[in-house]
Amino acid sequence: MSEKKVHDFEKLKLNTSDYKSSPKIRLAVQLFFLIATLYTGWRFVLFVSYLQEGGEAVTRPPGVEAFLPISSLMALKYWVLTGDFNSIHPAGLVLFMAFVVMGLFLKRTFCSWVCPVGLLSEYLWKGGQKIFGKNLPIPRWLDYPLRSLKYLILIFFAWGIFMDMGAEDLRNFIYGAYNRIADIKMMLFFAHISTFSLVVIIVLILLSVVIKNFWCRYLCPYGALMGFLGLFSPAKITRNPETCTDCRACTESCPASIQVHSKTRIRSDECTACLTCTSVCPEPDTLSFNIYKQKKPMSGKMVAVLVVLIFLLFTGIARLTGHWQNSINDDEYKTRMEQMDNPEYNHTGE
Ligand code: SF4
Ligand code: SF4
Repeated sequence: MSEKKVHDFEKLKLNTSDYKSSPKIRLAVQLFFLIATLYTGWRFVLFVSYLQEGGEAVTRPPGVEAFLPISSLMALKYWVLTGDFNSIHPAGLVLFMAFVVMGLFLKRTFCSWVCPVGLLSEYLWKGGQKIFGKNLPIPRWLDYPLRSLKYLILIFFAWGIFMDMGAEDLRNFIYGAYNRIADIKMMLFFAHISTFSLVVIIVLILLSVVIKNFWCRYLCPYGALMGFLGLFSPAKITRNPETCTDCRACTESCPASIQVHSKTRIRSDECTACLTCTSVCPEPDTLSFNIYKQKKPMSGKMVAVLVVLIFLLFTGIARLTGHWQNSINDDEYKTRMEQMDNPEYNHTGE
């Protein structure tokens, strides 16, 4: 190692105790987003039941649009092409952009700090580890093709949107009958789930118990998008080979199965910046999450603040500028729900 590089690492001066508390800090952030998601879901169920059964009016929680990422991707392209920030699911577009910014600057923090499915996935494999003593190891020859599945799913959607859809097609979809109540259709899908869909979900849960992060690592297109964006992130896990004792605690603890002990900078798309490796490293000033060139380590607290700040900044600006609530009123929702119940109704019509 050159003298200059050694000097740079000396400048890190990171007290590893800064990372010891990061698992607890990360769990607190995950619980914050889990509670926000459950609250949003509960309010949305009340809203749909008010539309169906009447009674006291319930305001629709716009945050539910976070579960419409394909619609948000279309809305993003439509906004760029036409300058129209759609009024059907504006909150979905705002949240999508917030998560894209997170991915671009803080790797896959969305997966390990924000996403409730990521949280569930994490505790499923940890449960599996407790029950069976370990998770099922996936050999490399199988791991690579399986990991590419989520990128194929992402490419399938992105190709359709970016290559095949012009402004007119996008407008027709975004303002069309299906997208206007896509959130309600999604809720009803889970409320009246078919046996086949239920079996698929149960199989995914069981696979997530035995295989670490099965859904996130192999199938989630959102995870693929975050992994791709994370390649451009200036912040990465960095190891100082000068002080590393090659104990391999980092590699053994990494939920993404990254060989941390053998790299100086983790560029892998699978790194979720969960900071597990930095919290277990026994050597001071050895493993850190830092910004390229600046060599300025980011503690767990700093990552937590940045993740929550990006979220609050985007949602706050959206609320202040009138880009949070959508433009569909309750009467239209009620009419469209009645049309949904009518078998004569053409679902593609306005
Ligand atoms: S390299 Fe570290 S931060 Fe990245 S996924 Fe593995 S344990 Fe988490
Ligand atoms: S845990 Fe720290 S000391 Fe051990 S191999 Fe990883 S970086 Fe090196």
